[in-house]
Amino acid sequence: MDRRSATLVTLDGPAGVGKSSTARAVAAELGYRYLDSGALYRAVTLGLVTAGIPVADWEGLTEDQLRALGVTVRPAMGGVEILLAGEPIPDAELRTARVTELVSRAARVPAVRGWLWNAQQQAASDGRLVSDGRDMGSVVFPDAGTRVFLVADPLERARRRLLDHGVESPLEGQVEAEAARLAARDHADQTRPVSPLVRPEGAHEIDTTHLTFEEQVARVVELARQAVDGKL
Ligand code: C5P
Repeated sequence: MDRRSATLVTLDGPAGVGKSSTARAVAAELGYRYLDSGALYRAVTLGLVTAGIPVADWEGLTEDQLRALGVTVRPAMGGVEILLAGEPIPDAELRTARVTELVSRAARVPAVRGWLWNAQQQAASDGRLVSDGRDMGSVVFPDAGTRVFLVADPLERARRRLLDHGVESPLEGQVEAEAARLAARDHADQTRPVSPLVRPEGAHEIDTTHLTFEEQVARVVELARQAVDGKL
């Protein structure tokens, strides 16, 4: 295995399992860059909504139309920066309820996936990258030295997501409603024809339901260090 592949770490898994926060912390610990691939799909979704392209027309989009949206990616401190019409996109704009509701529709469009595949390869050209998403270990970086699949109990995922969004003591009904939203997105991601969410063959599965955040980060860091020690 070459140095680039040995220093690639992928984290995949369902919505709300803690991939992004874990991946960011793992990258900081290892001194690698971090790529949030979900943010790329969110940026394209925001670009499509901003351009006023009706959702019914998304399936047939071409790469030229996507380029015209003005979504670009450039290397930045510790990771990559995503721009719309030359301006950095504030994280809050990528995470509105509207974008979250529509992102799986954009993510099933073959031209969107093909276009972002290139952007992701560029981000990883020098290795030393931790990425998270739905198909990072299965399709985008199947050669990565460390491939992890995170899972957690659905109600626990919903509870964590609400806490992240500032709900201090989520009520049972709120947790159930959030779990239903996560389940709907997982279903869309698992059943789409292109690059569905799957556990990549040979990936390390980590169930985080009963792990603290620090424990799950430590496990991934350990796997990543073993991959470098064992393969270079
Ligand atoms: O990770 P996040 O929740 O921000 O991802 C938003 C959506 O982007 C997912 O629900 C999925 O539809 C899409 N996605 C994807 N492939 C990836 C990352 C995200 O299809 N590698």
